[in-house]
Amino acid sequence: ARRQRISILGSTGSIGTSTLDVLSRHPERFEVFALTAHSRVDELAAQCLTWRPRLAVMPTAELAQQLRERLRAAGLHTEVLEGPSALEHVASHPEVDSVMAAIVGAAGLRPCLAAARAGKRLLLANKEALVVGGALFMQAVQQGGATLLPIDSEHSAIFQCLPEERSAWARRIDHIVLTASGGPFRSRDPGTLADVTPAQACAHPNWTMGRKISVDSATMMNKALEVIEARWLFDLTPQQVRVVIHPQSIIHSMVVCRDRSVLAQLGTPDMRVPIAYGLSWPERIESGAQTLDFCSLSSLTFEPADATRFPGLHLSWQALAAAEGSTTVLNAANEVAVASFLAERLRFDQIHALNAETLACLSIDAGEVTSVDGLLALDERARAHAREIVGRWQGRV
Ligand code: NDP
Ligand code: MG
Repeated sequence: ARRQRISILGSTGSIGTSTLDVLSRHPERFEVFALTAHSRVDELAAQCLTWRPRLAVMPTAELAQQLRERLRAAGLHTEVLEGPSALEHVASHPEVDSVMAAIVGAAGLRPCLAAARAGKRLLLANKEALVVGGALFMQAVQQGGATLLPIDSEHSAIFQCLPEERSAWARRIDHIVLTASGGPFRSRDPGTLADVTPAQACAHPNWTMGRKISVDSATMMNKALEVIEARWLFDLTPQQVRVVIHPQSIIHSMVVCRDRSVLAQLGTPDMRVPIAYGLSWPERIESGAQTLDFCSLSSLTFEPADATRFPGLHLSWQALAAAEGSTTVLNAANEVAVASFLAERLRFDQIHALNAETLACLSIDAGEVTSVDGLLALDERARAHAREIVGRWQGRV
């Protein structure tokens, strides 16, 4: 059979490089069609030399030119495209079978939609795209005849616990339980969270990840986004999505069935497992991950998510219950909050304050939620609002 052709959006990131690691174990099965990056030219050039993709994408003319020069010096014929439409082009190209969506943030929404509308096999790591796009995203998947495969470890776990036939899901599920590690501050005195530095927030106990999701894991906003993501992926009510803290990150999530039988997916915390599953589904291929050694596991423990320590988690259910478009606003506020925190313009504990205030203050026009252009305009408006609040708060200190 012909090899599966893949475009990797965000190939220089944590998920992007893990994806290439899995692909490298199966040269007979996969070939790379396109790779894309945003700032890391040298890394993308090195990936192109190894993988020899047909196309590569950088965001601006200047960065694209830098990449072209590096590739030409190496005698490589990869064509370099630039600009936002280039991402949509490589996501929907007729010769592409699968798209790994591993861009961070709402910036990934349009390329995801392009892949969905073109009926691709869409491997979704970029949870923000689904949180922003919501019902319109799921509609595009359905209308385009795309196959949406979750890469987020919790959602892959749920997906692995469900039958292949989607129409059976609703009859089987009572609710799902997403596990959360609790991040680096699970047992830190909540009174000291104002002093957290970006380096401390990015030092996750169980996973090595990009900076945005690392901060999200420390605030639990990552789990909040995952609650919203699960609501759409599995067509559940917000009440059917629950969260428990499980510090060891061995159980990656659970399905509680109608008969109260609980199905769980376990493994070492290694993103190559859900990536390999997305690539090979419904089959399974070698991922490179270590075998779980039960005899050396000390214990698996569980605790409720403390609302005073992790107030951000509850914004997910709040946003899902509020006007349509509220999850778009929440995501936009959080992207501004995390960027401001990493730039040391916002304290760690102010991330939640900014998200809550933006969600409470911004009113949404009904017309903004009926199209993707409308949602992205709402996203832009929420960002402007959140940035203005950051400016106001900075003026005060
Ligand atoms: P990284 O920050 O490591 O990588 C992000 C990738 O996207 C890089 O290739 C980056 O390019 C590119 N990129 C960044 N901004 C833009 C933009 N505005 N337009 C186009 N490309 C852009 O992130 P992760 O790999 O950690 O995460 C990617 C997604 O996967 C996120 O949505 C995250 O929530 C999700 N995810 C990640 C997990 C993990 O373990 N890391 C686990 C579960 C989900 P460059 O490097 O050149 O700047
Ligand atoms: Mg996750």
